[in-house]
Amino acid sequence: MLHVLMMDTPALALGPLLHEGKAKRLYATTDSQLYAVEFKDMATASNGRRQCQVPGKGPLNCQISSQLFTLLEQAGLPTHFRGVLDNGWMLVQPLRMIPLEVVLRNRAAGSLLRQLPILAGQQLEPPLLDLYFKDDGLGDPFLSEARLATLNIVTPQQRIQLETMARQTNSALHGALNRIDLDLVDLKLEFGWDASGQLRLADELSPDNCRLWDQRQSPDSPGRSLDKDRFRQGLGGLVDAYKEVNQRIQVLGLKPQHGGSRVKS
Ligand code: ADP
Ligand code: UDP
Repeated sequence: MLHVLMMDTPALALGPLLHEGKAKRLYATTDSQLYAVEFKDMATASNGRRQCQVPGKGPLNCQISSQLFTLLEQAGLPTHFRGVLDNGWMLVQPLRMIPLEVVLRNRAAGSLLRQLPILAGQQLEPPLLDLYFKDDGLGDPFLSEARLATLNIVTPQQRIQLETMARQTNSALHGALNRIDLDLVDLKLEFGWDASGQLRLADELSPDNCRLWDQRQSPDSPGRSLDKDRFRQGLGGLVDAYKEVNQRIQVLGLKPQHGGSRVKS
C-alpha cells in the first residue's frame, strides 16, 4: 500500500514503517526531522492480550493528544509534537526513546488498588510517581530504585530531570482538565532525547493512557469513567466517552499546529 502525506508546504512523503505497536504506527518521512504517526482504532488491555477494533478511536486520540501537547508547549514544556494531519495522523520529532513508563497518580485507581491496601479514589498528595520498564515481553515490570540503577537507563541527574518534567506535565494537565470538569486520576508518560540532547515528552496524551473521571457525574455512576477503563471493565461506550473528552477540550481554545491537508493511502 502506497501512503502519501499530502502536505500544504513543503511536499512530504511517507517513508518506511519503523514500528507497529498496539495503538500506533510510526513511519519515517522524506524529512529526516519528522516522523508520521498513525493512530490505530485498536483498543488493547492486559498488555495486548485482549484486543478489539473500535472504529473512530484512533482519530479521536490523535485530536485529543494534539491539543494536550499544544497545551504543554504553551506552558513551556518541550514535547515531540510538530503538527496534526487529518484522519488520525500526527507529525512528531524523532526521539531516542527512554524505555521507561512514567506513571503519575493523583488518585488511587487501577493496579495500585490491586497492589496496596488503599481506598479507590483516595487522593495522593503529592502525586505518586512510579517507574516501569517498558518491555511488553516482560510485562512492563515495576522498577525499584535499585533495579533502575542496575539497568542504568538514565543517570541520577537525568532521572531528576525526567521526574521533574513528569510532575510539571501532570500538574499542567491536571489544572487544565479540572477547568472542563475532568479529574485526571492518573496517566502514563514516555520521554525521549532529541538530537540536541533536549528531553521531550513523546508518545500520546489521550484517554488510552490517562484515567479521566467526569466530575459532572456522581462517583458511583458507571458513566464516570471517560477513558480506556470502559474497555478494560467491559462498560461499553468507549467512543462516546472519547468524543465527550474531545468536545470538552475544545473549550480550552487550544489551536494545535496543522501539519498539512491529508493522508492518502
Ligand atoms: P507500543 O509500542 O507500546 O505498543 P504504540 O502502539 O503506541 O505503543 O507505538 C508507538 C511507539 O512509538 C512506542 O513504542 C513509543 O515509545 C514510540 N514513540 C513515540 N513517540 C516517539 C518519537 N517521537 N520518536 C520515536 N519513537 C516514539
Ligand atoms: N497505562 C498505560 N500503559 C500501560 C500501563 C498503564 O497507558 O502499559 C496508564 C493507564 O491507562 C493509567 C495509568 O497508566 O492511566 C496507570 O495504570 P495502572 O498502573 O493503574 O495499570 P492498569 O490499571 O492500566 O492495569
